[in-house]
Amino acid sequence: MLELNNIEVVYSDVILVLKGVSLGIEDGQIVALMGANGAGKTTTLRAISGLLKTELGEVTEGNIRFYGDQIDNSDPEEIVKRGIVQVLEGRPSFEQLTVDENLKVGGYSRRKDREGVKKDIEMIYGYFPRLKGMKQRVSGYLSGGEKQMMVLGRALMANPKLLLLDEPSLGLSPLMVKEIFLVIEQINKERKNSILLVEQNAMAALSIADYAYVMETGRIVLDGFAEKLRENEDIKEFYLGLSNVGKRKNYREVKHYKRRKRWLS
Ligand code: ATP
Repeated sequence: MLELNNIEVVYSDVILVLKGVSLGIEDGQIVALMGANGAGKTTTLRAISGLLKTELGEVTEGNIRFYGDQIDNSDPEEIVKRGIVQVLEGRPSFEQLTVDENLKVGGYSRRKDREGVKKDIEMIYGYFPRLKGMKQRVSGYLSGGEKQMMVLGRALMANPKLLLLDEPSLGLSPLMVKEIFLVIEQINKERKNSILLVEQNAMAALSIADYAYVMETGRIVLDGFAEKLRENEDIKEFYLGLSNVGKRKNYREVKHYKRRKRWLS
């Protein structure tokens, strides 16, 4: 459904961030995009959703195709209409509005379909029963996990074909990450939404993804089926801090290892 072909992204005409990124997502897949801070994961999502424009960024080489149509450098509204919705890092919400109102805002593009919107709000409370008891709570008072559930729900209200999720696990407890990732997987299975999941939490991402890419300084350096990558020694060492005998490595060793850039071998 989605193809990035060798894209290059430049901010403010001079800052080259993505240096020939290619990746693909098939209908119904969960694809993880992993990598350290500053690798270019968010920039990749922005290139797909059109939000690069708001950051003075531009796709300067290559192209992005969604069901065959070229969409790079299109306006974000146009991309949402095609069925691609991005959930931003940091879970921004309308803090003064209630949970229910936030969800309704997500269904704005379908506002004429009142019945459909109502039904989908109930569907979201079904996925996140915790939110149901908080319908009338002002969203500014929600915990990080509750807010993550709400922004996910809000994105679903637009009825997307492809969801772009930017670090949903950020700052959440392991238990909350587990709860949210189980629902992401359930949504993917039941509603057939494809998902591109940007994550630094490789363990969580690989537990639900079908396929994964690893980025480093603006390039894809490794990709493969998630179940294979879970067993990959490089991934285990670098992301999970485990050596092949299951022993935890110390940070200096991991850093040293990173310098050797074994991804590339
Ligand atoms: P993180 O996990 O820290 O969010 P990331 O992999 O998502 O990292 P990006 O946010 O895409 O990485 O950033 C990649 C590079 O692009 C960084 O060096 C960053 O400083 C730069 N960058 C990001 N946004 C802009 C911008 N609006 N203008 C200029 N440079 C930017």
